[in-house]
Amino acid sequence: MLGGGQLGRMFTEAAQRLGYRVVVLEPSEPCPAGLLADEHLVAGYDHAEALDRLSEMCEAASYEFEAVPAQAVEYLRNRITVRPDAQPLSVAQSRLAEKNFATQHTPATPPVPYQPIEEAAQLPAALEHIGFPCILKTDRLGYDGKGQAVVESPADAEAAFARFGNVSCVLERQLDLQQEVSVIVARDCEHSIAYPVAENEHRNGILHCSRAPADISGVVQEQVQDSARKIADALDYHGVLAVEYFITSDGVFFNEMAPRPHNSGHYTLDACVASQFEQQARILCGLPLGAPTQHTPAVMINLLGDLWNGREPDWALLQGDPAVRLHLYGKKEARPGRKMGHLCVLDPDPDAAYARACSLYQELSA
Ligand code: ADP
Ligand code: MG
Repeated sequence: MLGGGQLGRMFTEAAQRLGYRVVVLEPSEPCPAGLLADEHLVAGYDHAEALDRLSEMCEAASYEFEAVPAQAVEYLRNRITVRPDAQPLSVAQSRLAEKNFATQHTPATPPVPYQPIEEAAQLPAALEHIGFPCILKTDRLGYDGKGQAVVESPADAEAAFARFGNVSCVLERQLDLQQEVSVIVARDCEHSIAYPVAENEHRNGILHCSRAPADISGVVQEQVQDSARKIADALDYHGVLAVEYFITSDGVFFNEMAPRPHNSGHYTLDACVASQFEQQARILCGLPLGAPTQHTPAVMINLLGDLWNGREPDWALLQGDPAVRLHLYGKKEARPGRKMGHLCVLDPDPDAAYARACSLYQELSA
């Protein structure tokens, strides 16, 4: 596993439960995945010797973040199985590439209208075309709302482009969102399956809450699942893919994809027969896919470092409720915005699960 964060940790747990041994490559120590892995190689992701060790020790490799250096993937794939492969990774690493891909392959759920911006001189025409308000996003390396700015005027756009360091960007229309949803797809060499669609709430650009199933019609659920599976098929994708969609009064729009398990799919750990991490391990190891079947409606809430506020939150508030599952990632230092863990509330009544999750979270924050 390249990357030692919580996604790598939950993969490690799933793979070990299936009887595999896991090596984590991650420069920082300690790290959530390294604490559980059979071996933690403390080195950069593109460190040649570390990649050699990794390919000697492992039969297959995956990664937990899309900013993994392309050379590292290239180096490993000449020696061992790497999933997902370099081509789908290169699409998912670039907002522009993934929007172009969605335009071509899933026209029924197109991206929000967008324009590529390579240099400041392209801004006036692009702004004219897109209209205000719009959002400027860096083409690469954006996450949790970082690398994007809402733009209300040409001056805003120029300032944001300069602030991002004149790197390649995408300008897109800011839509009035009714709902945000995402879907996890798992695809092996023969089949793809989609999990129930999750409905997401963000706070300050970071995912706060996901509820599954989403409160959407069966038609929209199928549309979203079909689109995401089409993208996976068109990429000849082997692995776990997350795709985010916007729901507006004008229909469903593609937002972005991630070539890995996703925060909005954490509910699958507690509410589904096989979790997104188990699928990642199965696909990597050439096992058949597990069942994505959801047995109980679920609500997941992220626990960010803000909750700590100098002291450990009072977990006893959660431990009294038998339908609450607490997941902590083993991070020592709590910082604002840092993902420290999550909770998941299970209840046959989805609205009851949502209400309990919200009130528990409020008690934790008090
Ligand atoms: P990332 O998740 O990589 O930070 P996103 O492109 O998913 O970047 O944007 C983060 C959040 O910002 C979205 O989940 C959504 O709430 C909001 N957002 C992004 N693009 C738009 C848009 N075009 N219109 C309205 N809201 C948007
Ligand atoms: Mg997003």
